[in-house]
Parts: sequence; C-alpha cells; structure tokens
Amino acid sequence: MRAPALVDPARRASAAVIAIVVFVLAGVAAAWAVRPPEARGASAPAGEFSAGRAFPLVETIATRPHPVGSAAQDEVRERLLTTLRGLGLSPEVQDTVSVQGAELSSSAGGTSFAHVRNVVAVIPGTASTGRLFLVAHYDSVQTGPGGNDDAAGTSAVLETARALLAGPRPRNDVVLVLTDGEEACLCGAKAFVDQHPLARDGGVVLNLEARGSSGPAIMFETTDRNSRLVGVYGSAPHPVGTSFAVEIYRLMPNDTDFTAFKDKGFAGLNAAYIDGAAIYHAPTDVPGVMDQDSLQHHGDNTLALTRELGDRDLTGLSSGQDATYFPVPGLLVRYPGALVWPLAVLALLAVAALAWLARRRGLITGRRLAASAGLTLIPLLLAPALAQVLWWLLTSVRPGYAELPIDPYRPGWYRLAVVALTAAVLFAWFALFRRKAGPAALSIAGLAWLALLGVVLAAVTPGGSYLAALPALAGAVAGLVAVRARPWIQVLAVTAGGVVAVVILLPTVVMLFPALGLRLGAAGVFLTVLLGLALLPVIDLIHPVPGGRRGVEAARDRRRGALPTVAAALAAIVFTVVGLAVDRFDAGHPAPTQLMYAMDADDNTARWVSDEPKTQEWTSQYVSGDLHRVDDTLPSFGAEEVRTGPAQAASLLPPKLTLTGDTRSGDTRTIKLRLEPQRQVRLVTLHVGADTPVTSADVEGQAVPIGKPAAEGPWGFGFAFHAPPTGGVEVTLTVRASGPVKFRAMDGSDGLTDLPGFRARPAGVGAVGSHTSELLAVAKSYTL
Ligand SMILES: [Zn+2]
Repeated sequence: MRAPALVDPARRASAAVIAIVVFVLAGVAAAWAVRPPEARGASAPAGEFSAGRAFPLVETIATRPHPVGSAAQDEVRERLLTTLRGLGLSPEVQDTVSVQGAELSSSAGGTSFAHVRNVVAVIPGTASTGRLFLVAHYDSVQTGPGGNDDAAGTSAVLETARALLAGPRPRNDVVLVLTDGEEACLCGAKAFVDQHPLARDGGVVLNLEARGSSGPAIMFETTDRNSRLVGVYGSAPHPVGTSFAVEIYRLMPNDTDFTAFKDKGFAGLNAAYIDGAAIYHAPTDVPGVMDQDSLQHHGDNTLALTRELGDRDLTGLSSGQDATYFPVPGLLVRYPGALVWPLAVLALLAVAALAWLARRRGLITGRRLAASAGLTLIPLLLAPALAQVLWWLLTSVRPGYAELPIDPYRPGWYRLAVVALTAAVLFAWFALFRRKAGPAALSIAGLAWLALLGVVLAAVTPGGSYLAALPALAGAVAGLVAVRARPWIQVLAVTAGGVVAVVILLPTVVMLFPALGLRLGAAGVFLTVLLGLALLPVIDLIHPVPGGRRGVEAARDRRRGALPTVAAALAAIVFTVVGLAVDRFDAGHPAPTQLMYAMDADDNTARWVSDEPKTQEWTSQYVSGDLHRVDDTLPSFGAEEVRTGPAQAASLLPPKLTLTGDTRSGDTRTIKLRLEPQRQVRLVTLHVGADTPVTSADVEGQAVPIGKPAAEGPWGFGFAFHAPPTGGVEVTLTVRASGPVKFRAMDGSDGLTDLPGFRARPAGVGAVGSHTSELLAVAKSYTL
C-alpha cells in the first residue's frame, strides 16, 4: 500500500530499486526452475540417463518420414527390435488392425482404422504389484521425419530401459510400449489398450511426447484423482508441471496416445516438451533442431519415475482427489484439491479486510475503490487485445507466420515485445489514474480482481485457482501489515507480497507463451497483467507521492511518471523490429505452404487444393478464388473450406471397389465389398451416399461405431483406413436400401513432386506440417 511516511523522493527511488532487484532475482530463480537440465554426454555413468547416448537413436529413427505402413517405418521397427534385443529383452510386435471413433480421429470423414505394428517389450519385475507402461510413438507424420515427435520419446524410453537394466531389477513389471499409427489416428495405443493381453489389468502409464524442439519436458496431463501420482512426480529430479496445464491443454488441438490409456482407466502422467513448435509435424522436424537438454529432461524424469514407480505398490495409486500443484524454485508445491475453495475464499476475505482497514485509515474511499475496480478492466482487456493486434500485424508483414502451427521459428524477441507492450499498458494506465483514484485504491482493486478470479477459477478450473488466489492472499496480508507499519517495514511487506506473485505466476507465464504461441499470446499477457497488478504497490514507489506539488515540480513529476511507460513502449518497438530482423524465412526456416492434389477418376479431371486461410504467393500459382467446401466429391475432406485451381490430370489408377457378396431381405441389403488401392497409398477412404442409412458396418473384422449421419452434403457414413493391406480392405455393410447404393472411394498418397505441372518450391518456401499437406488423392464414384 501507499507508504505515507515514505515521502522523500530519493528514499522512494532507492526502495523501488531494491524491491525491483529482489523481484528480478526471484523471477530469475522461478524461471530457472522450469528450465531443462543440461544434456549429459555418452560417457555418463551406466545407471544414468544420457541424452548423448539416446541421440544417435533419434538420428536413426528420424532419417526420413516414416508414417504407419511405410517402408521407412518397417526399417525403424527393425532397428527398435534390434536395440531391444541388444538390451537382453525379448520384444514382440503386436500386428493388428485398430479402430478409432470419430471423436478422436485426426483425419476428417468419421472413423479411422489403421493396420498397426506396436513394439512391446517387458522387463519382468521381481514381485510385481502391477504394470508400469513406458509409452512413446515411433511413427512420424507423412510430412516430416519426426526428429522430436516422437523420436525423442521413443529413444528416451529405450535409454531409460538401458539405464534401468544396468541396476537392480525393479519390483514391478515395466512394459515398454512403442506405438505405431499415433499420427494417423492414435490407433496403435488404441490397439494396445483394447487388444493386448498385457493391458488387460490396467496399470500406470508414463507417456512421452514432443510438440516442438526445445523447452522443459512439462508434465501437462494426468489421469483423474491424481493426488498420489503428483506426489510421486514431485520426487522426480526436475518436476515441471502445473495443475493449470490440463486446462490449457484442452485449448490446444493436440491429442496423444495418453488419451487411449486414460479412457481405458489406466493411471498415469503425460509429459512433452513444447517450445520451438514451428517445426511441429513439418519437414523441418529433423534431429538436428532438437535441444538435447529437453531430451535429457524427458529422460531424467522418466528414469527416476520408473525407478520410483517400479518399486512401490502400484495398487490404489489413483485414489484420493485431484491436487493443485505448481513449480517453485527447488520443488513442486502440492496441496489437495479440498484446499482450493478455502484458499480462494480466504484470499477474498483478506482483500476485503485490507480494503476495510485502508478505508478506516483514510487511504481510500469506497467510491475511489469502486472506480479503481472499473479502471482495472482497462489493462486486463487492453493488453491481451494489443498482443493479438501485434500478432495480426506480424502476420500482415510476414504472411507465412499464419501457416506456422502457433509460433514463428524464433519467437523469443516477439515474446519480449509482447511482455514490454503489456508493461507499457500497465505503466501508462497506472501513471494516468494514480493521481485521481489514488495508488492505494488501484493496488487494492488489483488484488480484488485477483481474489475474484481465484474464486471464479475455483469454480470453473480448480487447478488454476492458485494462480490468482495465492498472489491475492499474499498481497492482502502484505497490505494489512503495511497499512500500520513504519516505512521500511512497508517496503519489506509489499516486496514480500510481490515476490510470492512473481514466484507463482512467472513460471506459468514462461510456460504459457510456448504452450499457446503468439497466435494466442493474449493468454500469457493476461497472466502477465495479473502479475503486474500484484506488483502495483512497488510500481507506485517509482512515482513521487501524489499531491501538494505544482508548477515546474509537478511537470517534472509527470515526466518522471511517464518514463517507465516510454521505456516499455520503446522496448516493445525495438524487440519487434529485432524479431522481424532475426526471424526471417530461409532454407532452414522456410515459410510453410499447403498444397494438395485431387484427381476425380469419374471424369478424369484434376485440381490443386489448398487450405491456406490466406493464399501465399507460391500457392497462388495453383489455387485462387474463394474458400469453399469440396466434400461433394472429396467427402473425407469434411466441412473444411479450401481453395482450388485447375490441374493437369495425371495417369493414376483410382481405388477399386468390388462387390463380393450381396444379400437382400425386404428393404435391407447386406453388402460385402473389397476396397482395393491400385497404387502405393497411405490411406483409402470410403463413403456411402447420404440417402442410404447404414445400420451396421464391419471393416477388416472390426465393428465400426455408427454415428449420427452428417447433417448435410451428399455423403453419409464413411471411414478412413490407414496403411491398407495390399489385397484391399474387406468391408461388410448392412444398409437400408433395396436398390443400388452410391459409394465414393478415395485413396491418398504423399508427395506432389512427380505430378505434371508441379514446380519445386524455391529455397525459403516449405511444406506445412499437417496431416493433409502434400496429399495426392484419387477419388471415384461407384454405384453397386
Ligand atoms: Zn507425437
């Protein structure tokens, strides 16, 4: 709160400097706590995890794209089997067809199937109480070699197994599950939990992922009732995770193998490093871009957790409740979810008590507090809005940014710019209104918003309530002390309150910017504003005591008060300009473009297709016009809007659909079909005319969940089959129809380079990392 006795400008300035130095030190410590450890070399002791030992395996896995069913994937699998045998294990291949419902499928058009080959190996325990599963996927997307996603997880699992086998046997069985077809449809994990005997009794799963090339391995997802599991996680050497992350994860368009295990009732933890997301799923996701510190982080934690969980009784690990947890320097703070509401209410009461006391002491009036509460909405709304405006400006200057997953290649300067912009908004707002509203009223109003938000979050996302409630509580307690204390005690109290806010909010800010990227920079900025509000009593020390000064002195005060704003605004501009200069597109950091090619074998026509929201220069030589749907002839594209352009027809054979059996009774037909690609393809899809209701379906012996038919469009029931068998996919459909039924068959392969009319991308232009870019589709209608 305002320090009435601390009037002397020099003393105020020195108090401000000391407090800010303390905040910077606390901030550095807090940010340091969420940094990955340094990678250890190949000569590290045998019982330790070494990124230097794991990395060569990353390089052999990620030499080229290796999606499910590809020849490259066969090679990777052989290498994994050889490595596992070299560890003295007896790995097996689970070779099966798996189905994933539409709700999880990453490809449009309904249900997804895949022919997957999981690699599974058991390290038998001495007296097992349950099974511990170490899971990573060894397939990549079709567009990139998956140097991080998920060669990192796969090699970390293998290096963990090696280190584990170098020591005494664990008590519990440890099962290594290297899944296939994750990128296509999470089908490998689904096949394991649904069909593998080792999965029958459930267990505890640690899933390892990467959605970028660097940053800490964040434990971002847990199964329900995680209190005891999080306790175990806290014993890892570098625990980085927050109960708020699960809520953020829901905002992201990603899914992992963990979902399959979670849905099946396993207990477990999901970890990934996520910074450097520009390379996600792209051709640029090569081993060379990996920060091996991130790999070390994954490995250090996985090995320690495997030892810990390998030796404890695994029964009842998922009991109790959800915990609130977050990192502070040196440890993972954890408390039971039952404390969320009491703490949120306590923070609210503490802020109310502070307001009451401040009013009694004449520091604020009720009207000024109410006005301040309204005024606080300005930075809370304006700063996030400006962050989005900055991103919009950046994508206008560099249209290629819009095609990157969430962040530019080198987002660091832009992140600093966004934070500086936020600081400028806060400083300007405070300088403008502190005279009218009074610094005490503004500070207490800031704490009131934090406390209120703590209550709202307790109701909506309990795991995130601590972010607002604890800084509010600390700030209110500091204020209660400060209101009645001597000047230096006041400074000490508000500094201590601010340190709590820094330690609690800063790591989440540091993790949130990479998690959601500049594309959603508003989220990180919002938390930064909350942090700024908690620091207002100290920001006030930069300014002279208001009132009583006129003329030249008052003008000097105003200039001094404007200084932080000007400095922050200048910094925002400089950081943006430096960012634009540093983060240019080049051969190693290409501007991503999205292009597909679709042949219609019915009339032997072809077209280029692109889903770029704003057509880029390179892409505009192929497509033009407005965004429109193409699911009338390409039902697997779903409702996605694309741009198209005429293309030369290539001589490509469409998938063949043959009637192999047909039984009719009344208005019901049971149709047996063979869907057979006639070229090397990654997937085939089949759709039935919307006017024909499908009542049951079976694909390669797997029953297909019959969902609600599409509300519009000419095509209804459909599925995609990844890595189809060479002899074709056997389909049995029961339909309500007595006459002929319309079908649309499509297949898809990868790579456009051999197509007539395709010109190679110049240096600095690349392909988007997505499940559809570079897709070459051939479709044909059948009436049977
Ligand atoms: Zn992945």
